Amino acid sequence: MLKTIQLLKGKTDSIKRFHPWIFSGAISRMSTDIKEGELVQVVDAEGKFLAIGHFQHGSIAIRILSFTPCEINDEFWRQRLGEAWRLREALGLTAQDAPGNIFRLIHGEGDRLPGLVIDVYGETAVMQAHSYGMHLVRNTIADVLLQISGGRIKNVYYKSETTLPHPEEQLQKYGFLRGSCEDNIAVENGLKFHIDWLRGQKTGFFVDQRENRRLLEQLAKGRRVLNMFCYTGGFSVYALRGGATLVHSVDSSAKAIDLTNINVNLNFPDAPHHEAFAEDAFRFLEHTKTSYDLVILDPPAFAKHKSALHNALKGYTRLNAAAISRIEPGGIIFTFSCSQAVSKEQFRLAIFTAAAQCGRHVRILYQLHQPADHPINIFHPEGEYLKGLVLQVE
Ligand code: SAH
Repeated sequence: MLKTIQLLKGKTDSIKRFHPWIFSGAISRMSTDIKEGELVQVVDAEGKFLAIGHFQHGSIAIRILSFTPCEINDEFWRQRLGEAWRLREALGLTAQDAPGNIFRLIHGEGDRLPGLVIDVYGETAVMQAHSYGMHLVRNTIADVLLQISGGRIKNVYYKSETTLPHPEEQLQKYGFLRGSCEDNIAVENGLKFHIDWLRGQKTGFFVDQRENRRLLEQLAKGRRVLNMFCYTGGFSVYALRGGATLVHSVDSSAKAIDLTNINVNLNFPDAPHHEAFAEDAFRFLEHTKTSYDLVILDPPAFAKHKSALHNALKGYTRLNAAAISRIEPGGIIFTFSCSQAVSKEQFRLAIFTAAAQCGRHVRILYQLHQPADHPINIFHPEGEYLKGLVLQVE
């Protein structure tokens, strides 16, 4: 029997619109012995059933798993994860003859599993819990992953040391839950990438840029490319295959530069026209003497919260103005924001301001976003986070 949390009168509208979060301010009554991560039943002021979800202390108090009464048992997990697998199958991402074996299998709320992220790299799934409820159920999920993938997933690596709010309570933060695997090279659109599950950001790779990297490849021929905030060098490797005459990769982290060099060498050993620099992006733009005609700006989220929005927008303007003012006439800029707090319109306005400051004519060629394996739950617009513009600068 699940413990019950009752909501205040007038605080149920968002649930009726299937928003998957309940904030702590909406709660009127709950027993004091509900534990972190425990499954709870949510009812309205009259005691009518609303939802089932994972409880957690904090601003988001409940992450909803179901809006209809049901048992959250092995069968539930099999259904939800199976549904997610079938979507990736329909997208052509799971096929043995697909051009790659990297994709996102679970994108939290987008797959109706708030608090859970799973990326697949070949035979290994990397699981990240963003809620304590998902942490508690990690072993069940690991077993179900092996079942629903028809033998495709053999190893499950757990990596939640940076995403769980209560580090002291975590018995296991990272490591293999099922199987194990020494070989951590996976393939995206026919290109090889070394994935660092253990120390890498996110699950080790930015899976969400797959389609945007492919577009970059198509525009790279004969261009001198500057890949800012390169991390694993994804865009650099695609630019090299696309026929760029020179590629410079920049990241402030020395570890990222090592990863970039590893990935360039995996695909294009001793590429003489690639060079990587461990340096601050703004500083690099200030002093570089090289002229570029294709620049990628994919910085970390400048606004992690709404409170940082104003400064974040200024940051995007400053960064983009630096690139727009330096790029050669006819040059192309791939510019991104992965800040969930920054809307598409706000981001575009920041770029507009940058173009106006530089006094150069700028056209939008493409408007980019996250790929279909990072689906956006229409009831959870917060799930739309990645936006990008491909600009041409006269
Ligand atoms: N474009 C990458 C992902 C970028 S993630 C890809 O496709 O995989 C953001 C990167 O920006 C991180 O690797 C981080 O080390 C780097 N970074 C953060 N601040 C920086 C700065 N001021 N200058 C240069 N790099 C920075």
